[in-house]
Amino acid sequence: MSSAHQPLSLKHVEAQDRAALLDVTAYDVALDLDRGDETFGSVSTITVRSRGGPTFVEVQPVALNAVTVNGRAVDVTRLDRGRVPIETDPGENVVVVDAVMRYRHDGEGLHRSVDPADGRHYVYAMTFLDAAPSIFGCFDQPDLKAVWRMRVRAPRDWVVLGNTPATEVATGEWTLAETQPLSTYLVALVAGPYHVVRSEHDGIPLGLSARASIARQLDDDAPEIFTVTAQSFDELHRLFGVRYPFGDYHQAFVPEFNAGAMESAGCVTFRDPMIFQSRTLRTQHVVRASTIVHEMAHMWFGDLVTPVWWDDLWLNESFAEYMGARVTADSTEFTEVWVTEAHTRRPWGLAADQRPSTHPVAGNGAADGAMALQNFDGISYAKGATIIKQLHARLGDEVFFSGVSDHFEKHRFGNATMADLLDSWERAGAGDLSTFSDGWLLTAGPDRIQLDRGAGVLLRTPLAGHPADREHTLGLATGTAGSPGAWTIEPVRLDADAVAVAVPAGPVVPDPHAETWAVTLLDAETTAALPEVLPATADPLVRASIWCSVRNAFQHALIGPDAVLDLVEAALPAEDTDDGVGQTLGWAVWNILPVAADPVAALARLHTVAERCVAGAPPGGSLQLAALQIQVAAADDEAMLRDWLASGDSLPDGVVVDLELRWRILLRLAKLGGVDRDQLAAALAEETTAVSQVEHAKALAALPDAEAKAWAWERFTGEVEVPNYELEAIGLGLWQVGQERLTDPYVARYFDEVLATTEVRSSQMLAVATHIFYPRWSATEDTVARAHDLLGRDDVDSTIRRELVDETWDLERRLAIRQAFGR
Ligand SMILES: [Zn+2]
Repeated sequence: MSSAHQPLSLKHVEAQDRAALLDVTAYDVALDLDRGDETFGSVSTITVRSRGGPTFVEVQPVALNAVTVNGRAVDVTRLDRGRVPIETDPGENVVVVDAVMRYRHDGEGLHRSVDPADGRHYVYAMTFLDAAPSIFGCFDQPDLKAVWRMRVRAPRDWVVLGNTPATEVATGEWTLAETQPLSTYLVALVAGPYHVVRSEHDGIPLGLSARASIARQLDDDAPEIFTVTAQSFDELHRLFGVRYPFGDYHQAFVPEFNAGAMESAGCVTFRDPMIFQSRTLRTQHVVRASTIVHEMAHMWFGDLVTPVWWDDLWLNESFAEYMGARVTADSTEFTEVWVTEAHTRRPWGLAADQRPSTHPVAGNGAADGAMALQNFDGISYAKGATIIKQLHARLGDEVFFSGVSDHFEKHRFGNATMADLLDSWERAGAGDLSTFSDGWLLTAGPDRIQLDRGAGVLLRTPLAGHPADREHTLGLATGTAGSPGAWTIEPVRLDADAVAVAVPAGPVVPDPHAETWAVTLLDAETTAALPEVLPATADPLVRASIWCSVRNAFQHALIGPDAVLDLVEAALPAEDTDDGVGQTLGWAVWNILPVAADPVAALARLHTVAERCVAGAPPGGSLQLAALQIQVAAADDEAMLRDWLASGDSLPDGVVVDLELRWRILLRLAKLGGVDRDQLAAALAEETTAVSQVEHAKALAALPDAEAKAWAWERFTGEVEVPNYELEAIGLGLWQVGQERLTDPYVARYFDEVLATTEVRSSQMLAVATHIFYPRWSATEDTVARAHDLLGRDDVDSTIRRELVDETWDLERRLAIRQAFGR
């Protein structure tokens, strides 16, 4: 696909004009999925009320058979970059778009994949954000909601699932019940020989589905998933006071799904690695539960009431993220979710919020859909959720949820803006929220919070270039003399640039429960005390917050690799959460090796810590597995890894080498040159699963020879096409610390060749590939200069530019750490 022929992304002003002209009332969509594995038939009949006048309908076909308006043929040769101009009459119009569409392999549109385990084919629809017109002709913008009726012809052994219950009216002929009014981006379709499990809760029919080859695993996981779903429906009903509005609730686990999940109304799609095929970490269950609840919260925030335009996407994501964590913590067995968030989502969001591409949570100025997609980042999710937490701390449950209920009632099955929601809260008694909104929602960047011990004040400093005045509600933890790890936490209101606080001698940690959004930094006395107090701290959320501060300090070159390694050695053997061990050690392996003065010695130290954590953990448990995964990633001993692969005597007690662990070991051996291509191929042949196929590709790219890097590169440039999961895995495999001799030629080639990748991919996978294949370990002045040369050009695609800006900022941080600490 040539970039000159890429579909145009809808602009906000175009959406406004079209919304002023049209009301879409209904879609009747007929899809024929039984004509081979390349293309499918799509006939979309759209009923529209119009003020009368010209507009356009979006469609991205292989062949456009016909377009008619009220029976009048439209010249289909006028199709240009995904749009067909049409002329509407005043009053009711019927627009028909008859097209042949192509299945996609990049996780968007109608994605089709083949399960390597049994050769069976599966499809699912991803209509978000600009992708609906590659499935059916439509008016693709969130504020043109309509009811949908869908008919699907499918191979006879397939099941068809969608927003509403599907009935097989004749062999292979399926009809889906009419939906409630839905935006185009919330339309679902899942079809293939899926295994389906059904249940019911509180009058809501529930369903789950996954590929036939993981049917047993779905059956195993179903009770836990149904329990989380049921508990969360009860709690969301209690909090919102508005019943779930979409009838049945189906959760489809689908192959090669890019995001974590997508909140299509009544039929959520999830990435299917969330159906566990190997031994799992406790944290995987926590993340799955909070993802389930996040998507459930979207049924109200996003689906029942939908943003008018993408610049209010925070309305969707910030709420879903906040509700996802809150309801998981309060109503399911996964009460530790806030600790997981502090170790994972929070650092992700803080990094995004400090990069040059930072943007306000709300009103982020998305001029078109493509720009909006770039803002689906840690700011919209993690920062937005913390801001909602701050607002909740101010309003309390009663005002907070009565405003939210008012919002749902007022805009039921419609669209709304941030101003509408703020109005609802103000009506519910929140008082004037304009200062809160200005400081938190409309201003970019995190404040830096740190103690000035000498002056006895807590300091608040906005991000350079982003002046702001925002009030924080947070705790301040002070250590107890003579009792390391015992903290007294007092609430603080930080409503000025410096606020006086009582500071006893000893360690002090601002925001120990991650209640506010800020780059917290620890003072020198506290940092010096960490090796003693961190392992003695009982509360895992306080430990997570301290680690977050350590990461902040490292990122800004305020502490060096050796100090972090000292702390890792002192604290992690005492850590008893798998996030604390796995996330922290994983972060250290990823971030310290590329900047360490002696990477081999640093790796050895990390390996030793992981080994001690494995030895200290209960055999066979999650904590042991979390540590062992890192031990494998940090291992240099090929003989040990080979023995483990063969489940030999050196394997720690309780460890079982299953599918996932086997490929972790093979990946590490591949990087070290301890396996060859034949052995990798044999491992794939022995257990041919979707997981094996992806991990095999990653291991091939990681081999320490020129052939491996050339093989990976052909896939980056698109000379050889591979599906989305494999492409991402190959990018991860390609760049390995210690293989610079092999990968150095690709540093320059990356900057020379990345722009041409718009010819072979678009949208989300264009962003993913730009990011994953970036030469992130090449922290040199030369590489930074090359990046800036490219960014200085005016022909850089906006999606690529965004990824380059962010990756280059990260690279500059690595270079600064190297320069500060002498490598
Ligand atoms: Zn979401």
